[in-house]
Amino acid sequence: MAYYERAWAEVDLDAFTRNLYAIRKTVGSNAGIIGVIKTDGYGHGAVPLAREMEAMDFVTGYAVATAQEGFSLRKAGIRKEIFVLGYTFPSAYPEMIRQRIGAAAFTEQMLSDMAGAAGAVGEKMQIHIAVDTGMSRIGIRPDDSGMEFVRRAKACSQLEIRGIFTHFAESDETDKARANAQFSRFTSFAERIRNEVGLAQVRFHCANSAAILDLPETRLDAVRAGIILYGLWPSDEVDHVHTELEPILSLYSHVIYVKELEAGREISYGGTFRTSAPMRVATIPVGYGDGYPRQLSNKGAVLIRGKRAPILGRICMDQFMADVTEIPGVETGTLVTLIGRDGGEKITMEELGALSGRFNYELACCLGRRVPRIYKKEGKIVQIRDFEE
Ligand SMILES: *Cc1c(COP(=O)(O)O)cnc(C)c1O
Repeated sequence: MAYYERAWAEVDLDAFTRNLYAIRKTVGSNAGIIGVIKTDGYGHGAVPLAREMEAMDFVTGYAVATAQEGFSLRKAGIRKEIFVLGYTFPSAYPEMIRQRIGAAAFTEQMLSDMAGAAGAVGEKMQIHIAVDTGMSRIGIRPDDSGMEFVRRAKACSQLEIRGIFTHFAESDETDKARANAQFSRFTSFAERIRNEVGLAQVRFHCANSAAILDLPETRLDAVRAGIILYGLWPSDEVDHVHTELEPILSLYSHVIYVKELEAGREISYGGTFRTSAPMRVATIPVGYGDGYPRQLSNKGAVLIRGKRAPILGRICMDQFMADVTEIPGVETGTLVTLIGRDGGEKITMEELGALSGRFNYELACCLGRRVPRIYKKEGKIVQIRDFEE
């Protein structure tokens, strides 16, 4: 089995399973969990994680962002319900119908195109009706025009309405006033649909990770768990106590060079760091080409031999330097932890997000294809995904 030395990410599938059970404990048994695994599972790998969730009966299916993401899950043998959260271009409808992948629907044009495609294929197309309760992104309005849309969708025999959903814009903030307002618009609309249209089998869903943690009443028939699956937090403001989550991804490298620098030496492009005393400096073969943010220049740190080694100078595309003056025994080949734990120290995606002025979601998604993902269970490697093969 190939061994990776330059840079690799380890994904702990046991921690992933523990996160799911923790989420299940918070959500309770009345609502199903939809695993949001768009953008290749927020960079962690959609297929290996979906494989773990296939066996969990409380996970009812998966949400993705594009039809292609759905196709690659089906190709890998994933069988539970899959639907696309955003807009789907009509050219993908026929294949989605054949592969039982649902689409978000929210315009009359979509209904007729979807019904047309379903008629041509000879099978129903699954849809989730998107409702705009305040995000102003996609969705029908929760008013008379929306009711009319729901009636038309129901009347289309080629369409199977699987769900009706909305999305919160501010559920991750301490002040829940606007999330609550969105929720009450959604539940009033849901009640009108139940009373006036029926649709008893259709599942209503709105809760994202932040709402799962902080707004128990929003769980309805199903919740859409995204960032918390990966042990990451939707924001600093949500409840971090009652749902025990662990980050599932660690990022590692090895020191490739160590040198002693005298005072007055500049380090990396632009000479933005200058030694004021003699220093020991290690070179690490990772850079923004791997998705390690350049904004960490002169700010971030890595863990080496259980200690923090501050980043010196600019992050290059493929390399950067760190201060190991205070860390004895560092040499070519010493393990470097860029994200994760080493001894008593840890570096989280949230810390790097805050330092780099980016966002933990964004950091996870941007982890590069040059970084192989190694999946471990009970400490053993069970799968490797190497995008460069
Ligand atoms: C991405 C997304 C989610 C998941 O959001 P998290 O904050 O990661 O839980 C849920 N619903 C929709 C519509 C989304 O686009």
